[in-house]
Formats: sequence, structure tokens, C-alpha cells
Amino acid sequence: MNPKSIPFNRPYLTGDEFGFIAEAQHGNMLAGDGPFTKRCHGWLEKHTGSTKALLTHSCTAALEIAALLLNIQPGDEIIMPSFTFVSTANAFVLRGGVPVFVDIREDTLNLDESLLEAAITSRTKAIVPVHYAGVACEMDSIMRIAAKHKLSVVEDAAQGVMAKYKGKVLGSLGDLGAYSFHETKNIISGEGGALLVNEPGLAVRAEIIREKGTDRSRFFRGEVDKYTWQEVGSSFLPGEIIAAFLWAQIEQAANITQRRVASWEYYHASLATLERQGVIRRPIVPSDCEHNAHMYYVLLSSDFDRQSVLHQLKENGVYSVFHYVPLHSSPGGLRYGRIAGGMEITDMQAERIIRLPLWVGLSHAEQDYVVGQLAKVLGRSNWRQARVM
Ligand SMILES: *Cc1c(COP(=O)(O)O)cnc(C)c1O
Repeated sequence: MNPKSIPFNRPYLTGDEFGFIAEAQHGNMLAGDGPFTKRCHGWLEKHTGSTKALLTHSCTAALEIAALLLNIQPGDEIIMPSFTFVSTANAFVLRGGVPVFVDIREDTLNLDESLLEAAITSRTKAIVPVHYAGVACEMDSIMRIAAKHKLSVVEDAAQGVMAKYKGKVLGSLGDLGAYSFHETKNIISGEGGALLVNEPGLAVRAEIIREKGTDRSRFFRGEVDKYTWQEVGSSFLPGEIIAAFLWAQIEQAANITQRRVASWEYYHASLATLERQGVIRRPIVPSDCEHNAHMYYVLLSSDFDRQSVLHQLKENGVYSVFHYVPLHSSPGGLRYGRIAGGMEITDMQAERIIRLPLWVGLSHAEQDYVVGQLAKVLGRSNWRQARVM
């Protein structure tokens, strides 16, 4: 088997997307907060147990609402990992907030909860745990520290839809949670996201901020006889076409997750030999975490030149990619934020990680090919010997 090319990601369609879009169009409801948005909200609220779920046009938008909701003021500090996507920080920087980067754990690549207390100052307002690869952060410790210091917790659960921590859905544990439905995530609508409001006291304002700072949502429910400007907000909601597409995905969320998990497990078993040989380290999922197979990554042993490994894989049709230039190493990182403590683990893991192709519909034969090519690049003879044994 020598597939010509295995893309890193291939967006999966359930087949119902365009029917639902046609339904939205026939209903003449194309702006936001129509019937499909309501269905999505209903499912999200039931699934997460959140006080309120609000679709947004992206996870970035959900994080921006979070920063507004928490009244982040210039100089306020927000603790987060440096090993994350830019939106985690940018949403707060837009309000004048200062991201304070802490190092990550060697095992999960998630924010290291043991470093939090040392990073807290009198300006600290919030902690933003990022559930990398859909594997939960150590939320019990994080919530305990946040409560002790009266800090808010915003979960960047962009990668965490359908994943759990101690049986609880990610995004439902902090005061606020943010999901992404970007085409590269598990459940998709092209661009899209959701804000989960778990602190009941924030629910009314969340709705207002998302609707241009007005109480239009209350007006639509007949709770007020006209809608007016209430506070600072923006337009953060998606139209019904996006919500219709998303509904088709949500209906299949369990199935999509199951299929991804099966592919993840297959990689995990197939790559055990390379790990035993010491050339890679496979992902580590703590027993408290039920992950969603958002990603399969391996950490290369430091003997390898990652760029060269990625290049050789690509030449053989395997599109594998690295992840995250850490924010503290990016041009914007220390202009807008600062580090608290060392960044050794972040720097080390960010240089070793490669993510393998993983999407719904990826066949075992294709996965065998990916693993075979990786083994070949990392020294074929050893691997073959081990397989024969
Ligand atoms: C994808 C992602 C985002 C941004 O999501 P969008 O929906 O594209 O705005 C934010 N944080 C993390 C950790 C992500 O992986």
C-alpha cells in the first residue's frame, strides 16, 4: 500500500449539512439565533450542563466575550500556557490584559498546575487552562487555586468538545468555557465556536455582549418591549447557515468521536514499538481524562532534526505538521505578555512534537503507511527487526 498522499486533515461531512442549510433558507431565517441556533444551544446546554451556551462565529470570539465579561482592564494579568494558539492570549490583550505564561507539564503538555501559585500577583484576574489535544488539564487543582485566590477560570476547550475530566464535560468546569468548531477541530462548521457560561451570574451579560451590547435576545423572547444599547459588545454570533451545518455535525458528535478514538487507538498500538526503541514518546492520557482523539502526536527523541523528519514524510506523501511556536517565543509574545518562571518544558516539547494525519475515514492501511514511513525516516532497520520479533 502506497497511498500517494495522506493529508493532515480532511473535514468530515455527515451528509445532512446541505439539507439543513436548505431548510434554513426555505424558512427565510438566515440571521443568527434562529431555529438551528436554538437547537445547537439546547444540545450544548444539555451536554455540558452549563447555565447558558451561546454559539459564536469562532472560539476566538467566545474568548473575546469572556474577556469582556470578566471586565479585564489594562494591566490585569491572565495566567495561561505559552504552548497554545494565539487567540488564548489575544482575546485578553485586546482589553489591555497581560498574558502571564507558565510552563507546561512534561506528560500532557498542559499548563503545569504546580506553577500557578508562584505566578499569581495582586493584578491576576483569571487562569486560562488549555486542554491540549482534548486531554483535560488538572482541573481540580486549578479550580482549588482559583477559588483560594478569587480568580476566574476560563477553559480554552477549543480542542476539547466531547472530552471529559472525571466524568465531567470539558468547558463545563470553569466559570466560562470556549469551544471551537473550526474545520480543523472534531465537530465543525467551517468557522464557528461556542461560549459556555457556567457561572449563572454572568449569563445575562454574556447574551448582551454577544448581541452588539444590546438586550435584543430578551426582546426576541418578549421579555422587554424594545431593545436598547446596554453595554460594550460586538457581533459575535454566526448566521443560521453555519448553525444548520453545525447541527448536522452535532447530531453525529458521538459517532464522530468514536471513529476518531478508534483511529487514535490504532496509532497508539502501532507506535508502541518505536516508543520502546526510544525514538519517540507517545501521548500520555491521565486516568482522570477521557479524551476525544482530537489529535495524535508523537514527541521525537531529541536526536532527530524535526524539520528534516517532516520534510521526508512529506516527500513520501505523509502530511505531518508541528505545533505552536510558543507564544513567549513569538514576536508578539513578550511585547504583550510576560513569562513567570522558566519555559524549559514548553521549549523542549514544542521542538519535538509532530502531529500525524487524523480524520474520520482514515483507513488502517493509511495509518500503517504513516507509521511505516515514520519508522523508515527514524531508522527503518531497528523497527523492522522489532516487528518481526
Ligand atoms: C483552534 C483553537 C483556538 C481558536 O479557535 P477558532 O474557532 O479558530 O477561533 C483557540 N484555542 C485553541 C487552543 C485552539 O486549538
